[in-house]
Amino acid sequence: MARVRHEDDDDKSTPRRPSASRTEDRGVLSAELEPDDRGPGLRPTTFDEYVGQTALKHKLQIFVQAARERSEPLDHTLLHGPPGLGKTTMAQILAHELQVTIHLTSGPAVEHKGVLAGHLTALSAGDVLFIDEIHRLSPTVEESLYSAMEDGRIDLPVGEGTRARTMPFSLAPFTLIGATTRTALLSAPLRERFQIVEGIELYTDDELAQIVTRTSKILGMPATESGALEIGRRSRGTPRIANRLTRRVRDFAQVRGRTAIDRPDAEHALAQLGVDPQGLDATDRRILEAIVEVYEGGPVGIEALAATLGEPRDTLEDVYEPFLLQRGFLARTPRGRQVTRKALEHLELGDKPTQTPRRKRRGGDGQGQLDL
Ligand code: ADP
Repeated sequence: MARVRHEDDDDKSTPRRPSASRTEDRGVLSAELEPDDRGPGLRPTTFDEYVGQTALKHKLQIFVQAARERSEPLDHTLLHGPPGLGKTTMAQILAHELQVTIHLTSGPAVEHKGVLAGHLTALSAGDVLFIDEIHRLSPTVEESLYSAMEDGRIDLPVGEGTRARTMPFSLAPFTLIGATTRTALLSAPLRERFQIVEGIELYTDDELAQIVTRTSKILGMPATESGALEIGRRSRGTPRIANRLTRRVRDFAQVRGRTAIDRPDAEHALAQLGVDPQGLDATDRRILEAIVEVYEGGPVGIEALAATLGEPRDTLEDVYEPFLLQRGFLARTPRGRQVTRKALEHLELGDKPTQTPRRKRRGGDGQGQLDL
């Protein structure tokens, strides 16, 4: 079993951000850190428990086995994909399979070179250093990482004032696992220093149903096959959302005196939570409606859309767009984002609207807004 060290396990004398920053920084999807995100619980700990991503798992299993046979650390690995898809989980599984300790931190938490040096010098041979949101490292910290990744060396400052200089310090061989929402956010020199670069894709409805089945059992309120599929279908392709919705649906089912989650239980609860039958939440609908109402269906540039909605551009691009694109509600054209006929039909707007579209909401009562 891999040992997991969170950054807040470290020496408290080192100034660093409060641990909550990790969640804040990861956007609205992580507005609350699920209890299972720390320690055992819902988070899978082995390749077998990790649902989906079959091709990726297969490749990583080979790389792990090869590294172990050579008694070498795994090559530096970059995992990219939208939030909540299992990058942190996969990093922990890799450490578990490599039988090494994983040290967890994030780009914004590594505020200066000293913090990075603290993490790197704490690593034992073969350990994994996981940096979430690695694209948010400052340029100076990033530069120090280059020599650590390439030559296993870091320059440590010694002396003070005019006698200050740096001394090279040899690091134990280690694996850096970086996670980012998009590789394009990384500088080319950093990206090039990863020997393994892999993407994690949105999950299929069936895979999410499997996750809901497992989670609901662990939570003590099992979902029937159709109940699990209903929650899975509406989870925006994202395991973190599947787990979160399963918890909330369980609450509704429990209060209704149920012992299992059936499809009607799921439908009832999800409607209350403002998740419509296609899995769109209040923000998804707001995005589509803004494009229709303000930009006559598009195309509209992402900056303009972000300003209209009052949402950060990154949140739109990383959290909302992938799902809307994958499900065919939104199209990306060279001139910007455009709603599709499917979106218009779903919003019951009929044809591409003029200035004052006829509008009728569907799905959810519009009251409960789940901050996903
Ligand atoms: P990311 O680091 O990409 O934001 P996480 O690894 O924190 O996502 O995953 C969020 C939650 O979703 C985890 O707590 C875990 O319980 C669940 N999860 C993620 N991927 C899977 C998977 N492949 N199978 C089952 N559960 C998963």
